[in-house]
Amino acid sequence: IYLLIVGHSIHFHDKKIALLEAGPRKEYNHVPDTYSNRVSSVSPGSATLLSSFGAWDHVCSLRLKPFQRMQVWDACSEAMIAFEKDDLDDMGYIVENDVIMSALTKQLDAVADRVEVFYRSKAVGYTWPLPSHSCGTSPWVQIELADGRRLQTKLLIGADGHNSVVRKETEIKNIEHQYDQSAVVATLHLSEATNNNVAWQRFLPTGPIALLPLSDTASSLVWSTSHEHASELLTMDEESFVDSINSAFWSNVNHSDFIDTAGAMFRSALSLLRPSGSAVRQLPPSVAKVDPESRAMFPLGMGHATEYVRHRVALIGDAAHRVHPLAGQGVNLGFGDVACLAHHLSAAAFNGNDLGSLKHLLKFETERQRHNVSLIAAIDVLKRLYSTKLAPLVLLRTWGLQATNALPPVKEQIMAIASK
Ligand SMILES: Cc1cc2nc3c(=O)[nH]c(=O)nc-3n(C[C@H](O)[C@H](O)[C@H](O)COP(=O)(O)OP(=O)(O)OC[C@H]3O[C@@H](n4cnc5c(N)ncnc54)[C@H](O)[C@@H]3O)c2cc1C
Repeated sequence: IYLLIVGHSIHFHDKKIALLEAGPRKEYNHVPDTYSNRVSSVSPGSATLLSSFGAWDHVCSLRLKPFQRMQVWDACSEAMIAFEKDDLDDMGYIVENDVIMSALTKQLDAVADRVEVFYRSKAVGYTWPLPSHSCGTSPWVQIELADGRRLQTKLLIGADGHNSVVRKETEIKNIEHQYDQSAVVATLHLSEATNNNVAWQRFLPTGPIALLPLSDTASSLVWSTSHEHASELLTMDEESFVDSINSAFWSNVNHSDFIDTAGAMFRSALSLLRPSGSAVRQLPPSVAKVDPESRAMFPLGMGHATEYVRHRVALIGDAAHRVHPLAGQGVNLGFGDVACLAHHLSAAAFNGNDLGSLKHLLKFETERQRHNVSLIAAIDVLKRLYSTKLAPLVLLRTWGLQATNALPPVKEQIMAIASK
């Protein structure tokens, strides 16, 4: 995306830009009948970014599902929170990752004269310049490809995912942690057609289960659970798999009388203070079938690079930060990095400055770390807070969720952050 923005920008008209992609070119002329099991919840802010260089039109012409409501609730109590738009605006969009890739590929073709794309080209080694290069040292970053070719650049942007080789080779420290959970994804068919414009998520003690709308009759599953349970879910027969999903959304086996009573008392007190504050609970749709072959699992972890930039290098996306999918923010954080980096580099190019200089790269780092660190920490705290059945913590989060649900200004703040 970064390359598309700069490819479109007049400030980069005299720059040569290359994209290295280890994988093949991905492009749809028509979307397949079946949905891909890898989808993302794209925020309105990210959709605006994609619109700014024409890619969102392609997404819209291929396939996406807008949603207007999000309901999140606890499996250990009656606590729930619902976010909805007062107006007819969309809260976000569920888009298959392959659709986003296809839209970006189409737009890359439109700037082919300025951006050269090397598909199936894996970078295997880097040589870094010294900040003030001595005689005989190249002032540029040297990149070696798996097929033996070599490239050099004044600025290398590492967007190579959470196992980023660029990050490792620059020896930038990554604070990371593997969660005790894997995410099981699948494409599901609902028992009956509905508007299906709600993103649902229930926090089970083993991890959150989310149902994301794809069409009136289909939804995508992202179920984070223990590695052992995830493996079982992958191998069980289709009927048992569907039963497990419905039970995860509907069963009250984790409720206790003590928490239910304490929660009910707190809710009554809140309704006296704010009679019309709380959003009303809706019931999730029930699932009838799973698409054959659509089940897959991914181990989950968090990570954060202590630095996003070095002389002639910048990290963006999962190379700089990795989060639990419970907030649907991973790809949106990456899009935010892209917008910010493009902004600072445009200013540098406009002023005729060296794009790889730390001076403006540090502005990007400061701005993004300020935004990302608090969000990454909040997501990690939520993951931990909801991974327990310990009564005091369940009570704490029950009251917290009920109070937040009754306070529209707080919910608006949360929505404003999530929609960036
Ligand atoms: C189960 C699950 C559900 C998720 N749901 C959501 C969601 O709803 N919303 C959301 O915002 N996020 C979600 N995420 C997170 C999101 O998928 C990631 O944040 C996002 O894919 C990161 O994008 P990226 O481009 O930074 O990295 P990646 O998607 O990992 O892409 C890295 C790219 O770099 C290429 N590459 C790697 N090494 C090299 C090399 N040496 N040479 C050349 N090319 C190379 C790879 O081929 C790949 O194309 C989810 C994640 C998971 C696991």
